[in-house]
Amino acid sequence: MQPIQMVDLKQQYAKIKSEVDLAVQEVINSTAFIAGKAVQDFAAGLGKYLDVKHVIPCANGTDALQIALMALDLQPGDEVITPSFTFIATTEVIALLRLTPVFVEVDPKTFCIDPVAIEKAITPKTKAIIPVHLYGHAANMEAIMEIANRHNIPVIEDNAQAIGGDIQLSNGTVKKTGTLGTIGTTSFFPSKNLGCFGDGGAIFTNDDALAVALKMIANHGGAKRYYHDRVGCNSRLDTIQAAVLNVKLPHLDEYIAARRSAADFYDKAFAGNPKITVPYRASYSNHVFHQYTLLLEGVDRDGLNQFLAGEGIPSMIYYPVPAHRQKMFATFGGANFELKTTDWLTERVISLPMHTELSNEQLQFITSKVLEFINKQ
Ligand SMILES: *Cc1c(COP(=O)(O)O)cnc(C)c1O
Repeated sequence: MQPIQMVDLKQQYAKIKSEVDLAVQEVINSTAFIAGKAVQDFAAGLGKYLDVKHVIPCANGTDALQIALMALDLQPGDEVITPSFTFIATTEVIALLRLTPVFVEVDPKTFCIDPVAIEKAITPKTKAIIPVHLYGHAANMEAIMEIANRHNIPVIEDNAQAIGGDIQLSNGTVKKTGTLGTIGTTSFFPSKNLGCFGDGGAIFTNDDALAVALKMIANHGGAKRYYHDRVGCNSRLDTIQAAVLNVKLPHLDEYIAARRSAADFYDKAFAGNPKITVPYRASYSNHVFHQYTLLLEGVDRDGLNQFLAGEGIPSMIYYPVPAHRQKMFATFGGANFELKTTDWLTERVISLPMHTELSNEQLQFITSKVLEFINKQ
């Protein structure tokens, strides 16, 4: 049996090595390391895959969120509603821009921002909402957009963990995650569902005016070289990363299918165990399993993490401290937020190995060891 990893990028690379190596070598031969043809090709290819009008590649998923917020022309002190139960990047950019994070609860089933909590948190100062499609499960975008549209508040979808996911609206229309909000953002960090060989990110929108602003902000605030209309930053997807992504994008659906089939294996093995809640799959979307995250009741979660490590099985707590309890947010009143569901989930979640190369033998071993520990409790 191959050693078990949280994410196995080596085996995935081995399957596409000749294609990737050739694409990277082509970039090196061209020496067009910045803004080379592969970057435009990738933006066009991803736009087509997502069925979104504009894709603006950038340096990473955190920049994508920052640029998205900058394009909304907010003022210091404006409020941005966000979950606390997320990776720090989502909330960090709010503070970086001197905006005020307003942390709200997640739905305990989907782990994603609760639309009812959003509506309750809206004030005249609310100027943006950032839902996160956590672990690869889509937030309830239809409900969120209904609230946001009613209050005329833009929505930035943090799609770093769910690229390729579908959301079905009640009228039957199916859309890709990241394309329902005002702006969508993603990350191509190597371990993400569509990962490059370094850092990378992208921003999507169907709004022409916003697309112009986003592009300018990512390029030192200018559309024309050496002319700078607004304060921006330097955030580019480099050509080598785009070349890797051009090879991997056509495999994304098959990567998602591989993740789902691993998730199905886990689900079946854990079915009916009263101490384990397997990932929820809402009827409005299809989970793309960036993570496979269990919710444990009456189990020494950290003990399980240690026990598995001893058996050569990695497992992770995403995330051990919710954003509102991070020291970073002490001066933003983080600790004043009472988020019982978030705290409750933080103490009970555990993510098991999830990637495109898990064998049945590995899955069998992982599930038997998880059950061995849990059944002893
Ligand atoms: C990975 C991630 C980001 C940030 O992406 P980077 O490319 O690492 O900057 C933002 N939000 C979420 C939810 C993420 O998982």
